[in-house]
Amino acid sequence: MIDNYFSGSDIQEFRKWMEWADRYVVISHMGPDGDAVGSSLALCRFLRKCGKQCTVVLPDEVPDFLKWLPGFSDVVIYSDDSERAEKLVYDADVVCSLDFNTVKRISGVAASFLYTKAKKIVIDHHPYPGPFFDVTLSHPESSSTSELVFHFICAMGQYGLIDTETAVCLYTGIMTDTGALTYNSSSSGLFGTVSLLLDKGIDKDEIYRNVYHTYSESRLRLQGYVLSEKMQIIDSASAALVTLTDAELKKYNARKGDTEGFVNMPLQIKGILMSAFFREDTVLGIIKLSFRSVGTVPCNRFSQEFFNGGGHVNAAGGEFTGTLQEAVEVFRKGLEKWAESSEECIRQLFVK
Ligand code: 5GP
Ligand code: MN
Repeated sequence: MIDNYFSGSDIQEFRKWMEWADRYVVISHMGPDGDAVGSSLALCRFLRKCGKQCTVVLPDEVPDFLKWLPGFSDVVIYSDDSERAEKLVYDADVVCSLDFNTVKRISGVAASFLYTKAKKIVIDHHPYPGPFFDVTLSHPESSSTSELVFHFICAMGQYGLIDTETAVCLYTGIMTDTGALTYNSSSSGLFGTVSLLLDKGIDKDEIYRNVYHTYSESRLRLQGYVLSEKMQIIDSASAALVTLTDAELKKYNARKGDTEGFVNMPLQIKGILMSAFFREDTVLGIIKLSFRSVGTVPCNRFSQEFFNGGGHVNAAGGEFTGTLQEAVEVFRKGLEKWAESSEECIRQLFVK
């Protein structure tokens, strides 16, 4: 059964905008991942097929393993050309916000986003969407924003406008947000969606190779280093932590996106239920934090409670201002605090 995320009334307002609005901008979050880029390119392609002007604006650089996506060459990156990005957002009739729920997540794009007179719609699967939108289409139970964009296009009655390239973008987002359909993807409806995307002519195995099998040699060696030298198993909890300093990243010539997936690796160990990855970013002057968990362990709550971050139950993130050592200290103290919790979803981390 295909899920039916949107009814006619959900998209009624957007339909009205389509009658008069010509200039559309699609924006998504900083540190754009496969779902952010895939869903944005797909929606943009759809709107262009509807005869609209549309541009994707992203806050910062896209990792190399996503640059092959159809339509990527037209994306405007705020950190490369802030003037153009801001003008597009200011001048837009409609801004479509994908895969984020707070303006903090769009960093430099936030100012123009908040001041533009454009109508605003959000399509997202993060919990607690912010109050910035005229239309909010939020489904935290969905695998990905890309899955929701597929349903959005279908709800608009335009399944026929989805071409192979659009389907490639949508499948990429679904694949990357579900670890290639290995987590957060146990709904038959999602497989129904994937089936329809396959009908559009995508080669899902080629998409997998394009995203996951295009590492540089140094990236794979960095992974080996992380696993043998940098993975700490926390004795007191079913948790693991990986940290990387800027110097270590430089030593392995790490590029944007090269550390993608590191946070998941410790979860391959039997019994590990939560994993954290802390990466020093001396350019931004912050520590970038990633958390992953299994089952009902709420790593988003850990991120929120101790680092003011957020995200999904099993995939969350945040930023820490301070040294890597201090971030590790907060992590350890956080686990100590959690060890006293009586909530079952948290307790399971501490039962041996
Ligand atoms: P990642 O570890 O892939 O960077 O992020 C995983 C998830 O955590 C994202 O999909 C997003 O929901 C959330 N997330 C990442 N970074 C931040 C952050 O700085 N703040 C908040 N609130 N959520 C974040
Ligand atoms: Mn997503």
